[in-house]
Amino acid sequence: MREAGNVTDQARNVGMDVPLPIRGTWRRAGCLLVLMIVSTWSLKSAENAPLFRLPTPNRAIFEPGGESRFFAPTAGKLWPSGTFGCVRTDGRQLHEGIDILFTQTDRRGEPTDPVTAVADGSVVYVNRKSGLSNYGLYVVVRHQTSGLTIQTLYAHLATIGPGVQVGARVAAGQLIGKLGRTTNTRSSISKDRAHLHLEFNFQLNPSYAQWHARHRVGERNDHGNWNGRNLLGVDPWKLYMEQQRLGSRFDLVKWIRSSPEVCRVFVRDSDFPWIKANPAFVRPNPRANKEGVAGFEIALDFMGVPMECTPRAASEMKRLVSNQVLYVNEAELSQHPCRRWVTKSGKGWVLSTAGLELMSLLTF
Ligand SMILES: [Zn+2]
Repeated sequence: MREAGNVTDQARNVGMDVPLPIRGTWRRAGCLLVLMIVSTWSLKSAENAPLFRLPTPNRAIFEPGGESRFFAPTAGKLWPSGTFGCVRTDGRQLHEGIDILFTQTDRRGEPTDPVTAVADGSVVYVNRKSGLSNYGLYVVVRHQTSGLTIQTLYAHLATIGPGVQVGARVAAGQLIGKLGRTTNTRSSISKDRAHLHLEFNFQLNPSYAQWHARHRVGERNDHGNWNGRNLLGVDPWKLYMEQQRLGSRFDLVKWIRSSPEVCRVFVRDSDFPWIKANPAFVRPNPRANKEGVAGFEIALDFMGVPMECTPRAASEMKRLVSNQVLYVNEAELSQHPCRRWVTKSGKGWVLSTAGLELMSLLTF
């Protein structure tokens, strides 16, 4: 402050005829001020930019009653069949993403919507052989954000964008490919139902291919560590609506951890890849830190996402038995009939075959 005062005094002493070095100082100060304003503004706009953008020009999701223009239904059904969860075959079949309707076509009626990355990330998987998947041509992009590693998956693409290959960095809004109708299923996707199948998912274990070779002997694995069995989705519709509601206050970790848990399971492992990839899901427990970690208490949502992992000391547990079911939320369980991690056994609950497999893969 004193220095600034001196400059003013000096300037006043010489009237309007400010000496050149001082003019330079003022110019530099002016530049600095402009820089500060610009950088504060861009910081502000980065804060205000949504964490995840929509991947196509279709924005009807945010318009009242726009769902039927946003979601592509399955043949002969209504738009809810294009949403996430147990929405297929009378609730018995899972749809692990959302189907976003095309908005534009060429003269032949083929969709032309550009598909763009929802956030900055890196390409981790590209399937260029349509015949290898019911997802047809698809791309998986990894995003690292606030202690979580989450992937977005863009399926049924007509073409894959230039430079989109494993290891490539992509910026939010960058072209991933063109919306299309590719799939290997016997019934094709008709032009009027052309859509982008979008997933937000977690990779359960980065060494899936090894697990598969050991536990699924003789079963083909065309997609390595990106086998669908190794991916656990979160609901993209709910995610976008919550982000729209909260704006810059949207917190991905908080949002996922606020979803209802379907059960709690204890595993005797003290270290597994999930907690390294997603430290934001670990709940601190000073007692276990002090006495030693005997295992983890894991809360799963209906999809099986281990959204809360609490290290436990041996002294905190009645039994130190792996895969014991500690708690079941029966109301939540009955809401999602297509995913069963636990099953009734006598008066209690045990892990189902699927639940045992999930834990085996999680701790592999
Ligand atoms: Zn789909």
